Amino acid sequence: MAKYFFSILLFCLSMGVYAQGNAPFIILLGTAQDGGYPHMGCEKTCCSPAWKNTTNRRFVVSMALVDPSSKKWWLFEATPDIREQLHYFNSLTKGAYNYLPEGIFITHAHIGHYTGLMELGREVMNTKNIPVYVLPRMKKYLETDGPWSQLVRLGNIQLMPLTADSTIALPDNINITAFTVPHRDEYSETAGFRIATSVKKYLFIPDVNKWEQWNRSIVKEVEQVDIALLDATFYDNGELPTRNIKEILHPLVTETMATFEKTGSQTKSKIHFIHLNHTNPMMWNKAKQAEIKKLGYNIAVQGEKL
Ligand SMILES: [Zn+2]
Ligand SMILES: [Zn+2]
Ligand SMILES: [Zn+2]
Repeated sequence: MAKYFFSILLFCLSMGVYAQGNAPFIILLGTAQDGGYPHMGCEKTCCSPAWKNTTNRRFVVSMALVDPSSKKWWLFEATPDIREQLHYFNSLTKGAYNYLPEGIFITHAHIGHYTGLMELGREVMNTKNIPVYVLPRMKKYLETDGPWSQLVRLGNIQLMPLTADSTIALPDNINITAFTVPHRDEYSETAGFRIATSVKKYLFIPDVNKWEQWNRSIVKEVEQVDIALLDATFYDNGELPTRNIKEILHPLVTETMATFEKTGSQTKSKIHFIHLNHTNPMMWNKAKQAEIKKLGYNIAVQGEKL
């Protein structure tokens, strides 16, 4: 009898491990601001380590949402580095998934976030109807402005309309909710995404204006998830001495940390800073990186599985 119970216990344990091994996850395929790292035209101390040594380079912010049980994956953002990033994903996952994602979710029409779509056109991949999930203004922009409208006309991409604050379901109980955030909305609105899998909830806000300009509380939003990937374009106001601080609309990392100062270490540890500008010392200064980690926050790592 004891032997019987023991084998049942072993079976349950192994199923538990199996289920966990099959749980959806995210892989960060890039952590830099739209211009990447190193930044075109920058030969200063921030970028010189990355010009000299290619292992210091970082791609523009993007991530893969991976579902091992359905063997499917989705890409968030089509960056100017998409060519490298699809190869990177394929090598990190040892070719276990289709080379192209099941779909692409895009936040907004700034170059670091959507221009990688051009690689799907007839000049390069000539893809067939890859679903591209976008909010209404972004959809209209891609439909009406060249060269993007050609991707739609030739059926390289298929636009999948999203509605702010409503949820779409992907296989295996993965739910994606787009919402809008304040940002420079010249060609499109700007989305953030909430991703809920069977095991974890994620918040993805790569580009946003000051938190006070948002009609939601960023603290409450972070508290409701397990992992929050947040805009960390600039560390502080000393970074761009030639620019008026009022022109910088992003929340500075110092401001985000002040916003979260009174929250517990558990909340702080959910935050992973992304979208780092080349001038941000969190990208290249080891002492600054250690300081941020000591305060309980994370700096997103390219290739990291979350
Ligand atoms: Zn950006
Ligand atoms: Zn630089
Ligand atoms: Zn932007």
